[in-house]
Amino acid sequence: MTQPEDIVDFHDPDTGLVGCIVLHSTALGPAAGGCRLWQYADPQAMRADAMRLAEGMSYKNALAGLPMGGGKAVIRRPPGHFNREALFRAFGRVVDGLGGRYITAEDVGTSVEDMLAVASSTRHVAGLPADGPGPGGDPSPWTAQGVFVSMRASVQRRLGTDLAGCVVAIQGLGHVGSALADLLHAAGARLVVADLSDAHVRQVAARTGARIVPPDRIHATEAHVFAPCALGAVIHAGTIPELRAKVICGAANNQLATPQDGARLAARDILYAPDYVVNAGGIINVAGEHLGWSADQTRSRVLETAGRLDQVFRFADTAGVAPDVAADELARAAIGAAAQIVQAPA
Ligand code: NAD
Repeated sequence: MTQPEDIVDFHDPDTGLVGCIVLHSTALGPAAGGCRLWQYADPQAMRADAMRLAEGMSYKNALAGLPMGGGKAVIRRPPGHFNREALFRAFGRVVDGLGGRYITAEDVGTSVEDMLAVASSTRHVAGLPADGPGPGGDPSPWTAQGVFVSMRASVQRRLGTDLAGCVVAIQGLGHVGSALADLLHAAGARLVVADLSDAHVRQVAARTGARIVPPDRIHATEAHVFAPCALGAVIHAGTIPELRAKVICGAANNQLATPQDGARLAARDILYAPDYVVNAGGIINVAGEHLGWSADQTRSRVLETAGRLDQVFRFADTAGVAPDVAADELARAAIGAAAQIVQAPA
């Protein structure tokens, strides 16, 4: 983990607001990343989570080609009953105090309503309901679109075919997984799906003809592609020997449990499309909302995800490293180059 540029702790006794904002890097632009509301065991755990997530946002934004750095806010969920709107208004004042160095949005535990409360205190917030046909609102369809074009590029690279006729195993049919299932079905792929929610699997199977398998076996299903769209850390020393797919490409964050797992996949000749490269559609939507892009401009940026992934694969081949390592190196290089321009004397 690299050191962040700044850490801002905040505390508002009137509302019970306690948390921190980590500005990992502003070399490429204002630090953008969501606000997480979570029950942390102690302040150290909260800060460590924010630092890890903020660094991840720097890499994701850099590789998405966005004029944005990386940051993250975390708020400790107050014990017992609390006034949610007042809490997020107070958080908005903290964000406003940073004068645009940090742009917040939804993350785990926060909602559009929370961001509307934040917006009453600051304009440095995204993830608000879409105002017309432009970007904004629910980022999931954009994320699914980016994963879809990335999967098509990965299948072409590893298997030399199109998605039509491929079998794709999707783990998790929530906002992103179900939208991805529809795109794949329309493209002629055959689906195998699993979710902890019976309702989710039934709905998707009814629409797409997907075969349903138990959640604990989806990773080991016979398929061309495995698409993790539920939880992180599903690729590890225990699951890698059981994988039957030759491509892994899905929306879930932090799919690799350890830094060694990328090399383990490469050793099995499984092509891993790095999660934060392929799932950037959501943050591209946030950037479009904040920077005033049209729906068409935002869509083009999302579709360009496939080209950016291809650069990662080509760099991985040239450097002889796994794609996850290649992605990190390319992101660090982009951030480092921008930081040098910022620091260079006039
Ligand atoms: P979601 O909460 O809408 O859906 C998650 C789904 O996974 C749910 O249907 C849940 O029942 C299912 N699930 C949970 N545990 C499971 C298990 N063990 N096996 C099978 N299914 C399981 O979330 P989402 O918005 O669709 O996001 C999915 C993943 O993509 C998350 O990891 C998220 O962090 C990541 N992501 C989402 C976005 C976005 O735009 N929503 C953007 C980037 C990354």
